[in-house]
Amino acid sequence: MAYCAVRAAPIAPRRRHACPGRARFAQIAALLGLGVAGLITGCSVNSTDRDASRDFAEARQRMVREQLAARGIRDARVLDAMARVPRHELVPESLRSLAYEDRPLPIGLGQTISQPYIVAAMSEAVALQGEERVLEVGTGSGYQAAVLAELCREVFSIELEKELADRARADLARLGYANVQVRDGDGYRGWPEAAPFDAIVVTAAPDHVPPALVEQLAIGGRMIIPVGRALQDLLLITRTEAGIQRQHLMGVRFVPMRGEAEDPQPDAGLLGDEN
Ligand code: SAH
Repeated sequence: MAYCAVRAAPIAPRRRHACPGRARFAQIAALLGLGVAGLITGCSVNSTDRDASRDFAEARQRMVREQLAARGIRDARVLDAMARVPRHELVPESLRSLAYEDRPLPIGLGQTISQPYIVAAMSEAVALQGEERVLEVGTGSGYQAAVLAELCREVFSIELEKELADRARADLARLGYANVQVRDGDGYRGWPEAAPFDAIVVTAAPDHVPPALVEQLAIGGRMIIPVGRALQDLLLITRTEAGIQRQHLMGVRFVPMRGEAEDPQPDAGLLGDEN
C-alpha cells in the first residue's frame, strides 16, 4: 500500500552498547560454557536495558487488552497502533514507569499527555483507513500524533507552546515518524495551506467549535473535539454534502484551548443540528 512508504517503521529498541568485537568474544566464551562472558569482556549487553524494554512491551500489551479492548475499542488498526507506539518514550523520563497506566500524565508547562483510552477512542472515532491527511490541534507530547501517524498517510500537528512543539518534533523524528509535521502556533485557525483534511483531532478544549476547523474539513471528513469549560463534551462532527452533523460521544476533561479560542465569540452558528 502506498502509505506504507511514508509511514513509520516499526520501532526497534535502540541498543546502547555496541562493542561488536567484544560481543563476538563474549558469544564464543558463552558457547564454550565459560558462563562469565560479561566479566571477561567488561562490555556485556546491558541486560537492564533489555529487561526494561521487555517490561515496557509487556505493559503496553496489557494496556491494550485491559484498558482498550476490554472497554470496547474494536478497530483492529487502532489496537495495533496502540500496541506499537512506545508511549514511554514520549513521557518525562521520571514518569516512564507510569507510561502504560490508565491515566493522563504531566508533560511540563502545565500540559498533559492524554489517558491511553481517550487517545484510542478519539483515533477510532475518526475512522481512518490509511490514506488520509489528518490535522491535530495540540501536539503536546506527540503521542496522539504518533498513533495517528500509524493509521493514516500524513499528520499535520500544531502546538501552541514552542518548547513542547520542538520536543515533540525531535521525539517523533527520533522514533522514525517521517509522516508527521509539527508546527508551533495557535491551532484555532487550523493549517489552511494543508487543508482540506479528511480528519481533525483536537486535544485541547475550546468552549465552542472553531469555525475555521469546520471549514478545513473535507466533505465526508470527521472531526473529534472536546467542547466546554471544566467538563467537556467529546463531539464527533461530520461534514457531509448536506451540511454538518454532530454527535456527543462522552464526557471528558482536557486542558483548555488557549489563544484566539479564548476571545469572546459573536456566533458559533456553523454547527447545524445535533443527531
Ligand atoms: N495530544 C497531546 C495531548 C495534548 S494536551 C498528546 O498526545 O500528548 C493539549 C495541548 O494543546 C497542550 O500541549 C497545549 O499546549 C496545546 N494547546 C492549547 N491551546 C492550543 C492552541 N490554541 N493551539 C495549539 N495547541 C494548543
